Amino acid sequence: MVIVDEEQDSSFKQQDGLRYSARDLAIFRARENGIPVVLGSATPSLESYYNALNGRYRSVRLQSRAIKNAALPLIQCVDTRLHKTQEGLSEPFIRALGKCLAEKHQSLVFINRRGYAPVLLCKSCAWTAICQRCSSRLVVHLRDKKLCCHHCGHQENFPRACPQCGNQDIAPFGQGTQRVEETLTAHFPAARILRVDRDSIRRKNAWQEILQAIHAQEVDILVGTQLLAKGHDFPNLSLVGILNADTSLYSTDFRASERLFAQLMQVAGRAGRADVAGHVLIQTEFPDHPLYHALQKHDYDALAQTLLAERKTAGFPPFVYQALLRAEAHNIEIVLDFLSRAANLAKPSHSVELFDPVPAQMLRLKGLERAY
Ligand SMILES: [Zn+2]
Ligand SMILES: [Zn+2]
Repeated sequence: MVIVDEEQDSSFKQQDGLRYSARDLAIFRARENGIPVVLGSATPSLESYYNALNGRYRSVRLQSRAIKNAALPLIQCVDTRLHKTQEGLSEPFIRALGKCLAEKHQSLVFINRRGYAPVLLCKSCAWTAICQRCSSRLVVHLRDKKLCCHHCGHQENFPRACPQCGNQDIAPFGQGTQRVEETLTAHFPAARILRVDRDSIRRKNAWQEILQAIHAQEVDILVGTQLLAKGHDFPNLSLVGILNADTSLYSTDFRASERLFAQLMQVAGRAGRADVAGHVLIQTEFPDHPLYHALQKHDYDALAQTLLAERKTAGFPPFVYQALLRAEAHNIEIVLDFLSRAANLAKPSHSVELFDPVPAQMLRLKGLERAY
């Protein structure tokens, strides 16, 4: 038997170098060998879910949670239109963390953005620091006094003044893990706060030490990225706070909602294991969004049905197959010309629809210009 756990996880699919999907390979090899394959997930990919609905796959549901008697966490939204945030944190959010501290339980603040702030901004001319090799903004890493590109690894020093207008009042804008850690330290000076992101686990053995510290109750508040979302059981963790999830709600990637839901379900699942009841707070401007409604009800099926209906209307997978031809070069003209010629070679028919080449949403990456 082959078991693919968390089958929806995008890390199973490798999209550069040798391209393959480990999940789809597992299905293929199981069929070749005539053995069963189990795709496990609390939030299956819509493709797998659809295959189970139409009988191509067999659906088997776990009717109880892995740990006996563990109640599902209570998931609530904090409406940031009513509760204004300061340094990215609202008052109900801070209060819940304070209560959790007083009860000597651990809490986790989830923000999927490392660094101090995602943008360095000039308030007088609106200049922002961007990467010269990528169409992306440089992330502020205050501790190292550096600006870093999270796409190509480029680093540069902090400018003293705005390179465009000379204004010296340039400031980090928005929140990253380092800034949230700093804000929480100001609110709770006595609390033991630990940041977990790719920067903090870079050192050898750091990850093991962090897990040990959490289990030995040497940490009160964890601040971290998706590294903390997956598969770890923290027995004394009772509160999970989620910041900045809204950015994925209106993404142009048609799979963004599906991924956000899976990720938030995973993070929420960290709260309230064993005998500690869990509580999850999501800070959002859109508390009535169907995704948050489904999350609050722990109702993956409701969201999956909504998303499938949207995909059917829009003509997206799993109702159609899509193939994407990508190209990159030093100059976008070359890329578009190549793709146009490739498109002319393809023969559209009643069952094949062909789309014109367009520049990638992130046009430049590592010095190359890209189009689809
Ligand atoms: Zn300026
Ligand atoms: Zn870059």
